[in-house]
Amino acid sequence: MFRKKVVSGVSLDSKSEHKSTSFGSISSIFKGNSSVLNPESEPPEPAVNAYLPLEADVIKPSTNKAVKLIQEVQKLEGRTIKPFVDYNEGLLFYPILSKIGEMQDNVACLDDLVSDGILEKQVYEKLIVCPIHPETFSSSMRLYCPKCHTMNVEKLNLFEHKKCGYITESTNFDFSDQNNSKCPSCNKQIKNFEKEVRVPAMWYQCSDCNEKFDNAVIKLHCRKHEHDFDTNSGQFITTFSYKLKNSEISINSDTNQIKDELVKLLQGFNFNAKLNISINGKSGNVHEIPIYAKSKTTGESILIFIKNQPSGIDQSDMNSILVPKLDIDPTNTLLVTVSGINDGIENFAAHYGIHLIAEQDFSQILSRVEEFVSEWYSKNGGKK
Ligand SMILES: [Zn+2]
Ligand SMILES: [Zn+2]
Ligand SMILES: [Zn+2]
Repeated sequence: MFRKKVVSGVSLDSKSEHKSTSFGSISSIFKGNSSVLNPESEPPEPAVNAYLPLEADVIKPSTNKAVKLIQEVQKLEGRTIKPFVDYNEGLLFYPILSKIGEMQDNVACLDDLVSDGILEKQVYEKLIVCPIHPETFSSSMRLYCPKCHTMNVEKLNLFEHKKCGYITESTNFDFSDQNNSKCPSCNKQIKNFEKEVRVPAMWYQCSDCNEKFDNAVIKLHCRKHEHDFDTNSGQFITTFSYKLKNSEISINSDTNQIKDELVKLLQGFNFNAKLNISINGKSGNVHEIPIYAKSKTTGESILIFIKNQPSGIDQSDMNSILVPKLDIDPTNTLLVTVSGINDGIENFAAHYGIHLIAEQDFSQILSRVEEFVSEWYSKNGGKK
């Protein structure tokens, strides 16, 4: 029943085979690519428009597209990319892709962000399509007279005026003027159709043979190739939406102490520092940030994320930081952890200007953060 169907070059079921023009996996791009950006020596550059000519040791444009896409998704309702179906042409596409310079039917680049753990693929809709021409989505419902098989079928209702009890065919009630309709029997004005009129019966009548019947013959019509097919013989096509994964930071109780210490430290450097605060990003979305601080002297800002993961900091941890980081665009972003760092994460962090501080215990973390802030502070000519 759920056979694989390829529609206009777009594979519609979950395993897309069209990877040729894809972004390439974000995480794989950065493996063995550690010298991309050094956030200690210069402020993180927005990677979005940084198209660089040499592919060998610099950022691939495809990655910049991925970043741009993440930023665009944040502006969407429900942070979800929905498919657009052109029923006339039988095409399925994602208009948002044109904003990042991709073909609108390049589903592979969305699926790559799913593999990277950034987007979540969800079933959006099941379309019933013609079993002979599954590549066209343009099917519509048709009603036929069961006796003479013409389509000249009218729907008829009985209407009952509740107040006076008068029952007649709906054709005798004139509701063309909503504010001025009257009961044909008692002539009283009907103001609220829903409340004042009951529909005790419904049936069909064929205008050709005058046959009256309860159930019309229902067929689906393949519009492009102009033929009918049985509803039961229709095939399903699944369309997918893509939702940006939750980027909210869980607040662990075991990190409260280090957070307090970090806030005090930042205040010592003349920062206005806040704990567990909601910050509005450029997209208008609100992000929960464990520590946000703004320098009272320079206006520069810093986000500090604290994550502890027994299995080590992984890609999804980084993604949950990347989304608010790109949207808020602070001067500096720190991730501090007492956990291990998984393969490829350091390169990923360096590329996106996220400064990683991983130490065995909190006191070591504190002194590393102090080092970092102090260096930054002195660069701006400040004094502790
Ligand atoms: Zn067909
Ligand atoms: Zn008929
Ligand atoms: Zn009446």
